[in-house]
Amino acid sequence: MKRRLSTLICSAVLVLAPLLMTHAAVSQAQEGSAGVPAMQAKQVAPNVYYVEGLSELGSSANQNFISNAGFVITPAGVVVIDALGSPELARRLIAQIRKVTPKPLNTVIVTHYHADHVYGLQVFKEAGARIVAHEASGEYLNSDTARLRLDASRQELFPWVDENTKLLPPDEPIKGAKKLVVGGVDFELIPVGPSHTPDDLVVWLPQSKVLFAGDLVFRNRIPFVGQADSRQWIESLNTLLKFPAKVMVPGHGPASTKPNQDMSLTRDYLVYLRQTMGKGAAELVPFEEVYKNTDWSRFNKVPMFQYANRMNAYNTYLLMEREGQ
Ligand SMILES: [Zn+2]
Repeated sequence: MKRRLSTLICSAVLVLAPLLMTHAAVSQAQEGSAGVPAMQAKQVAPNVYYVEGLSELGSSANQNFISNAGFVITPAGVVVIDALGSPELARRLIAQIRKVTPKPLNTVIVTHYHADHVYGLQVFKEAGARIVAHEASGEYLNSDTARLRLDASRQELFPWVDENTKLLPPDEPIKGAKKLVVGGVDFELIPVGPSHTPDDLVVWLPQSKVLFAGDLVFRNRIPFVGQADSRQWIESLNTLLKFPAKVMVPGHGPASTKPNQDMSLTRDYLVYLRQTMGKGAAELVPFEEVYKNTDWSRFNKVPMFQYANRMNAYNTYLLMEREGQ
């Protein structure tokens, strides 16, 4: 009898375990529950909202919620700007949208193809939105970097990114500047790459004077420089300053009502990397020595410094070597 009971309990556990796990996953995703970062849409202008990711490394604990996304409600439907870093986050963003409008999803504009901005794309596509991005995104989409990043993310970000997570190309690749009009609302898409990436786009809303700056602007954290062209990036920041923006929504960190002032961390950091690493590279001083002798006190208290700075400096050193040739 005893054995039969334990067998029964075991079978029940085996049958119930997947159900329990599914339930746990669903309840975890509810806003404000322990362990999962909350997502709360903030309004920055009439019909214009954004959600703000954390200044952290992506992990399964935070569902890869480390970047921002925006949405704009128009009479013809909702335009989303960036798709967040996992399908689950995209579903949660749609839940935020549904709190303020029942209108259909019309378009998702991608500011650039980095994992934390695009792993949610499939959810918006399934919900009926078309994907608009710069055609230079093809470079990333067809790269080993993208494939290896997704393979690694399927481990590191499991279960939020798994074998069902896909990279989707744009339905509408754009080449030059383009004005989209959705329900009478203008969206000016302006290519500003290759800066942070080859396919950088910023989105300017002339009617509400909101600028979605993508990852050209990082606030409250050290930027991710990667394979960026920092010279062009600094130039592009000057271009952004020409927009009479009332609000700027960066790719990372809080929205700003003082774009000029709040772009300065990104700009000063890039300028400083180029100056220090450029000098070292020109004098043929090995990277390790340049890095050790550089005064980082201006930036080393900024979140993500310990994770990002060394690689940013190294990539910039290599870039300055190439530029010096
Ligand atoms: Zn990025």
